[in-house]
Amino acid sequence: MTLAPAPIGLAVPFLDLPAQSAEIAHEVLPAWEALLREGAFVGGSPVAAFEREYAEYIGTRHAIGVSNGTDALELALRAVGVRAGDEVIVPANSFIATAAAASRIGAMPVFVDVDDEHLLIDPDAVDAAITSRTRAIAPVHLFGQSAPLERLLPIARRHDLAIVEDAAQAQGAVGSAGRAGAVGHIAATSFYPGKNLGAAGDAGAVTTSDDTLAETVRSLQSHGSTTKYVHDRIGVNARLDAVQAVVLRAKLRRLDAWNTARRAAASTYAELLGDLDGVRLPATRSGSSDVWHLYVVRLAERDRVAAALGEAGIGVGVHYPTPLHLTGAYAHLGHRRGEFPVAEAAADRILSLPMGPHLTRPQQVAVAEALRAAVGE
Ligand SMILES: *Cc1c(COP(=O)(O)O)cnc(C)c1O
Repeated sequence: MTLAPAPIGLAVPFLDLPAQSAEIAHEVLPAWEALLREGAFVGGSPVAAFEREYAEYIGTRHAIGVSNGTDALELALRAVGVRAGDEVIVPANSFIATAAAASRIGAMPVFVDVDDEHLLIDPDAVDAAITSRTRAIAPVHLFGQSAPLERLLPIARRHDLAIVEDAAQAQGAVGSAGRAGAVGHIAATSFYPGKNLGAAGDAGAVTTSDDTLAETVRSLQSHGSTTKYVHDRIGVNARLDAVQAVVLRAKLRRLDAWNTARRAAASTYAELLGDLDGVRLPATRSGSSDVWHLYVVRLAERDRVAAALGEAGIGVGVHYPTPLHLTGAYAHLGHRRGEFPVAEAAADRILSLPMGPHLTRPQQVAVAEALRAAVGE
């Protein structure tokens, strides 16, 4: 069986998922066919194999495949002991799931600002936000960078707090404290199709080297049970299914090569856009190897430029247009514009350009030309 060629769509798609599918189809389709014949759809050998391979890749003792990244975050927070009424420190600019996972437990997300250079959680702001109710810090490895764990670890140790990494955008990223997903007490990741390691639907994982935390997550994700029909706690159903594990195994084998291609594409953008006045390019933290989940530039009149690029056939995005403290979902916390000035200023200026392992140089040249025209140079 072969896959039909990708349909002709945008001149430069934001992310070329059909190209990823084309690379793995010859491995995935026979494995899916075997699954259909066997009927072991939940759990089973593809899930166990993927969990082993992913733990080895990240460098943790355990990886627990789960239903999606948001569930992974919630289970990780619950495993480290976050309970209703506790506070969890979260950067003001992230995908809403980082905060929502805490809210789902009845805990309160406490937002902090980010640093202007990398838009990553600001360790000084974390330090200042700690109260007697703080239970955990949830740094986000945003855009494929690694958050400053080397500075957060001593703060967490001093206050006896857990670090729950949100590694949804950083599969394969390495910071000076180690590999994203292996540095904190526990980490959550998402395999939403658009992530660097993406499934063919929703999926996620929790990684940790702590045996007790791993056992707790495993129980929580499967109705509070590790032995069938023995329920020691009230859990949820948040399992990874075998259909997704097959895809994830095939893509994991290619992840390093795909991340290398993303790094090359980031260098090409730097070369093509470096002289463009008024467009601020992303920078890598020293000692880090980023995996460029997103390539985020900052510029004035973002909405006008984004519309112009869209008209030129360039797929763009904004990650994310509203800082979490100003979303309707968190209006009840009573935050005001001006509280987190770096995150707020960034939200008005950020623009994510096409990025992915199959992005070609001619496509990037087309992006650069369209951007140059849009900013009027
Ligand atoms: C994608 C993402 C999530 C949520 O993952 P889902 O699988 O969509 O639930 C959480 N945090 C960040 C930073 C993400 O990018």
